[in-house]
Amino acid sequence: MSKIAIIGAGFVGSTTAYAFMLGGTVQEIVLIDKIKEKARGEAMDLNHGASFVRPVNVYAGNYKDCRDADIVIITAGAPQAPGQSRLELVETNSRIIKQIVSNILDYNTDTTLIIVTNPVDIISYVAWKTSNLSPSRVIGSGTVLDTSRFRHLLSARCGIDPRNIHAYVIGEHGDSEVPLWSTVNIAGISLDRFCTSCNRACSDEGREEISQKVRQAAYEIIEGKGATYYAIALALRRITESILRDEHSILTVSTLINGIYGLKELYLSLPCVLGRKGVENVIPFELDADEKGQFLHSAEIIKGYIPADLTEKPIELL
Ligand code: NAD
Repeated sequence: MSKIAIIGAGFVGSTTAYAFMLGGTVQEIVLIDKIKEKARGEAMDLNHGASFVRPVNVYAGNYKDCRDADIVIITAGAPQAPGQSRLELVETNSRIIKQIVSNILDYNTDTTLIIVTNPVDIISYVAWKTSNLSPSRVIGSGTVLDTSRFRHLLSARCGIDPRNIHAYVIGEHGDSEVPLWSTVNIAGISLDRFCTSCNRACSDEGREEISQKVRQAAYEIIEGKGATYYAIALALRRITESILRDEHSILTVSTLINGIYGLKELYLSLPCVLGRKGVENVIPFELDADEKGQFLHSAEIIKGYIPADLTEKPIELL
């Protein structure tokens, strides 16, 4: 029997619970929010769909209910306002996350944390530093969502099912993220080769347009409807399933980077193998010079936002 605790029953938290219900992913879901009535209302609404899905116990609870949770997903915190960058949330959400992690650890020191709260790379680092858990068990949702946006846009451009497109976005989940064009392949065929057999004329500008759309997606959605939550909820279900079912799927979660590409003690997204133990391996991708430069630039940006009180000494490039 698997149990998930979701901290923060807002747009992302409650939609994630809904995605888990539809997927029959777990048997127990507890929603915890500082506004108890909000968590209670969401749990009631979700439970009223119980007769249409596999049996699942959804309820509003408190931190005590984390004691037997296999995974705790943290979505609590301030969301982006229209036009606001994720990095602008760092101070408020770092404060919130420290308290939440400490509350969880009062009841469970043997769980896996999945961090969603933005800016997710910094907040995941804060959660790891605060928790003392193994970094393999403190996982940011990272660019799993951005990778899916990239695959969706490639699918629309190439006319191919996104499940047959291998493509990754790495680095910050934010403005400096890096869509990896050099590794895109369709059913094992490199994109460059695929393009020679396809009648759609795609220029370099077409590729840049897709990269920009991936980076701008959240801004556009927030401008339109105030928040993003459906795709991130599905991304969280995918991450959770890979862990609970020990699937060893490769997903671009945010993880501790120590020694890769000369980087030291930073949370950033790279393709990771996810299994029951959490992040079991980070895949060392061959990046071209431009992509490596962009990735290191992304790392520089993240480095500049890590709260000073969490680093004994400034984080440096090795
Ligand atoms: P929301 O405002 O709808 O929900 C946030 C919830 O957190 C609220 O219900 C609030 O009461 C609760 N909360 C705040 N402080 C709390 C605390 N100390 N303890 C318990 N609960 C607390 O926001 P949302 O749209 O659900 O977004 C939540 C977070 O997820 C934001 O930081 C947003 O930027 C982030 N997000 C991340 C991704 C991603 O890909 N990583 C995608 C979408 C949203």
